[in-house]
Amino acid sequence: MAERIAVVSGAARGIGAAIARRLASDGMKVGVLDLDEAACADTVSAITAAGGQALALAADVSKEDSVNAAVERLATELGEPTVVVNNAGVLRDNLLFKMSVDDWDTVLGVHLRGAFLLTRATQKYMVEQKWGRIVNMSSTSAQGNRGQVNYSAAKAGMQGFTKTLAFELGKYGVTANAIAPGFIVTDMTAATAARVGVDFDDFQKAAAAQIPVQRVGRPEDIANTASFLVSEGAGFVSGQVIYVAGGPQD
Ligand code: NAP
Repeated sequence: MAERIAVVSGAARGIGAAIARRLASDGMKVGVLDLDEAACADTVSAITAAGGQALALAADVSKEDSVNAAVERLATELGEPTVVVNNAGVLRDNLLFKMSVDDWDTVLGVHLRGAFLLTRATQKYMVEQKWGRIVNMSSTSAQGNRGQVNYSAAKAGMQGFTKTLAFELGKYGVTANAIAPGFIVTDMTAATAARVGVDFDDFQKAAAAQIPVQRVGRPEDIANTASFLVSEGAGFVSGQVIYVAGGPQD
């Protein structure tokens, strides 16, 4: 198998960290990209302790220069990336009438602008090598969720972004797919529980009761799906949105 270099955004913790670890155990070298380089240390250490190779990359995905510099550094120090996982995310939940322009811009900026910038910065390596894998993190919230008009718009946008990449880049051997997770236990869902004033264990139990497989998701559930979508064998799967939510979506 050819050597593959991946970059995973928002990989200091949560779903991104699990994906970075999984791709490393699949044999890829991994750029662990997050806002703070020191915060990437745990993910990088876990990868290197398991015999893999990883590089911590500090970048704000919503900032063009920051993203371009991180990708150039990755290409120079670890290798040219042909696998990109656009996972970095933030929440700024509020009902529409209380939502500030800043909360709208921040969420659209990290999820959508961030995915655009990181994909644009890496696509040249994929096109040159006539091989690439793009995975974008959507959400079940793409179908609408009270209090998340910004996040729902961003996550629905990720799906259109993904399908368009699949059309544009397919002829270069590049696939693009989206994963739309349901409830996954991370700091993000813990913060949501805290915001609504519910104990996190109770919050998880209530969520699990509504999920057909009767449990909440773990970051590894998403990492397993990402591992398949970026694999050599997934070359005929493109432009898809895979709901990883313990049950079907409408
Ligand atoms: P998380 O635990 O909050 O982790 C998100 C990571 O993204 C953090 O390390 C965060 O850094 C980083 N990040 C935020 N803004 C960034 C920026 N501008 N540039 C670079 N990195 C940035 O979230 P998660 O639950 O793992 O979620 C990962 C992805 O899955 C997100 O896109 C989320 O929307 C999506 N998702 C999650 C769930 C769920 O139930 N957890 C469900 C559906 C979809 P800091 O720590 O410094 O802020």
